[in-house]
Amino acid sequence: MCNQKGGVGKTTTTINLGAALARYGRRVLAVDFDPQGALSAGLGVAAHDVPTIYDLMLGHEKDPSVVIQRTETPNLDVIPANIDLSAAEVHLVSEVAREQILASVLRKVAPDYDVILIDCQPSLGLLTVNALTASHGVLIPLACEYFALRGVALLIETIEKVKDRLNPQLELDGIVATMYDSRTLHAREVLERVVNTFDDKVFDTVIGRTVKLPDASVAAKPILDYAPSNPASEAYLQLARELVARGTIA
Ligand code: ADP
Ligand code: MG
Repeated sequence: MCNQKGGVGKTTTTINLGAALARYGRRVLAVDFDPQGALSAGLGVAAHDVPTIYDLMLGHEKDPSVVIQRTETPNLDVIPANIDLSAAEVHLVSEVAREQILASVLRKVAPDYDVILIDCQPSLGLLTVNALTASHGVLIPLACEYFALRGVALLIETIEKVKDRLNPQLELDGIVATMYDSRTLHAREVLERVVNTFDDKVFDTVIGRTVKLPDASVAAKPILDYAPSNPASEAYLQLARELVARGTIA
């Protein structure tokens, strides 16, 4: 889940797409890769005074199974992060194959999961390059607001560079429109522009704007548990089905 813009729905989509895929029986690992730790908090797992992705990246902890935490959602596990991760870029700069460190960490646990979702921080720095190098595909959440498309060209350029130089299998899986408010002409215009620009790369599923999503994060639950009848619950289930139908996820 990648977009160097903050507040576009990366973390919310990681949590709720993860929960939806877990509901459909996939074994899902969500990796918190943002020092803010919002993914960990939103799934109700401890991120302070516990080993985190930072310790795995720096080699302080070699065994990912020590770091992985279960959530209350069956089939959905998390590798947490906290503010320690903000120091990782500095420490990794001088490492050998510094872009491949997350990939080598996740390789150890990949056989235990059907899907691994990485919640990136809002930057295109070394951590995000690590995430792109470790991935088969990129999902870009775009909020249906002013300047939604600003920065996306640079993001796609970064994805192309990583594909070229580090990870030939990397694909742009698709763009998820989030925070869509069908009552405003503005949101409809933004969505139309996004579809005109990216065509079939845009998922048919659109995530509507609802206060139940931030409420669910505060309650540290996926919306499927917090407000199952809210349209956003169905939207994330539909996004999961769409990823399977497109062959992105087996
Ligand atoms: P990012 O990880 O890209 O920074 P978040 O997922 O944290 O973005 O979302 C930013 C804020 O917007 C959070 O408070 C989140 O709860 C809220 N939010 C996310 N998706 C929606 C939505 N569809 N409707 C309303 N609020 C949303
Ligand atoms: Mg986030």
